[in-house]
Amino acid sequence: MKAVLDHVGIAVKDLALALAFYRDALGLEIDAPEEVSSQRVRAHFIPVGESKLELLEATASDSAIAKYVEKRGPGLHHITLRVDDIHAALAQLKSRGAKLIDEQPRAGAEGALIAFIHPAATHGVLVELKQAVSPQPSALSPDTAVRRYAVGDLELVSVCDGLIRLDGGSMFGTVPKALWEKKTPPDARNRIAMAMRPLIVRGARTMIIDAGVGDKEDAKFLETFGVDRARSLDVTMAEAGISPEAIDIVLATHLHSDHAGGFTYRDAAGRIRPRFPKAQYIVRRGEWEDATHTNARTRAGYLADNYLPLAEAGVLQLVDDDATIMPGVKVRRTGGHTMHHQMVLIESKGKTAAYVADMMPTMAHAADAWISGFDLYPMETLTAKQQFAKEAMGQDTLVFFPHDPAVIAGHIKEQNGTRIVQPAS
Ligand SMILES: [Zn+2]
Ligand SMILES: [Zn+2]
Repeated sequence: MKAVLDHVGIAVKDLALALAFYRDALGLEIDAPEEVSSQRVRAHFIPVGESKLELLEATASDSAIAKYVEKRGPGLHHITLRVDDIHAALAQLKSRGAKLIDEQPRAGAEGALIAFIHPAATHGVLVELKQAVSPQPSALSPDTAVRRYAVGDLELVSVCDGLIRLDGGSMFGTVPKALWEKKTPPDARNRIAMAMRPLIVRGARTMIIDAGVGDKEDAKFLETFGVDRARSLDVTMAEAGISPEAIDIVLATHLHSDHAGGFTYRDAAGRIRPRFPKAQYIVRRGEWEDATHTNARTRAGYLADNYLPLAEAGVLQLVDDDATIMPGVKVRRTGGHTMHHQMVLIESKGKTAAYVADMMPTMAHAADAWISGFDLYPMETLTAKQQFAKEAMGQDTLVFFPHDPAVIAGHIKEQNGTRIVQPAS
C-alpha cells in the first residue's frame, strides 16, 4: 500500500488563540474555513508543503471534537493518510486483524471516501484513511447541461455529451499542480473531470459545432478516460427539442475524439454511419490531412472511425481557409492545439460570441500561461489567445468553453492586470 500524509488534525478549544500561534506567530497562511455540519465542526486548513494542518473547532457542545477537548484537552486529534484505493487498504487491514472504526468507507468532505482505524490498532493515534474522488460537477445536472443564449438574431443552444477525465498535469501543461489542483481537484488517478459541450447555432440554418465523444468506444476506453455519458448528446439534444435530423451543418473545430466522436455512430448491423443524417460535415482541409496522416505524437488523439465514414458517405466538405460557414458564423484558424485547429466566431446585429474549442478548453485556460500540454504548438496557442482576448474584451464577446465542468460561457475581463472570466448567467 502506498500512502501520503494528507493532513494532521488538531482539536482546538479556542480558535482565536490557535490562530494567534499558527497564523500570527508562525506566519502560516490559513485557508478559508470549511463547515462540516454533519460533524458539527469547522475546519481551518493550513497548507504545509504537500500536507496540511487542520484546526478543528467544535460548533456544538455535542460534537465529537467538543467531547474530545473536554475529556483530553486540545491537541493532536487524528492523522489522515491518503491512499489510492481505500477498499483495498481496508481489506488488507482486515486480513491482518486490525481493529477498524469503519469497516466500509463513507463519504467525507469534497466527495472523498474516508474510514477511521481504531487507535487500539495504531498505537494510540486515531488514523483516518482517505481516497480523494473527483467531484461530480453539479454543472451537468439537467438545469445547466442545456442552456440557451440569444446573440442578435441567432439562437445558441449549449448541449453536452457528458464528461471525460484526462490527466490534470497534461491539461495544464507547465502550470504546477499546486496551482491547478485548487481550481480543479484531481481524482485518485490524477485525472480531472471535463465536460464535453457542443454548441448548436440556429439561424438561417441549424448547425452543431463539434459533437462530443460519441458512443462507439469500448469498455477499456471508457474506463481509461472515465467517460460518463449519463447526460449524453442524445439526451441533451432531446431535452433541447432538437432532433439529429434538424441539423443541416456539422462543423468541426478539429478531429480529436472528444470533439468528433459523435460525428458517427455504429448501426445495428455494425456499420459506422454519419450520426446526423441530413447534415453536411465541414472540416478544415489541413486538419483532415493531419488526422488521416498521424504520427507517434498525434496518433492517440485521432480515431479514424469518427471521420473516415463521412468521406465514404459523401457528406464531407473540406474548407481551405478562414471562411463564412453560414450567415453570422465564420471560422478562424488558431493553430496551437493542432496545426489547423480552428475557433468559431459568431456575430449578429452587433453582438458577438465565440466557440474557442481547445484554445481555451476551460475557464482557467483563459490566462496566458495556462496552456494545455496536449497542444502541439504552445507558442501559437499563446499568440492566438492574446489576440482573441483583446478582441473579445473590446466587443464584450460571449465566450463558450467546451470542456469547463462548471461554466458554459462567460465574458473575458481584466482585473488588476490578470485576465479573468466572468461567467454569463
Ligand atoms: Zn483537442
Ligand atoms: Zn478537447
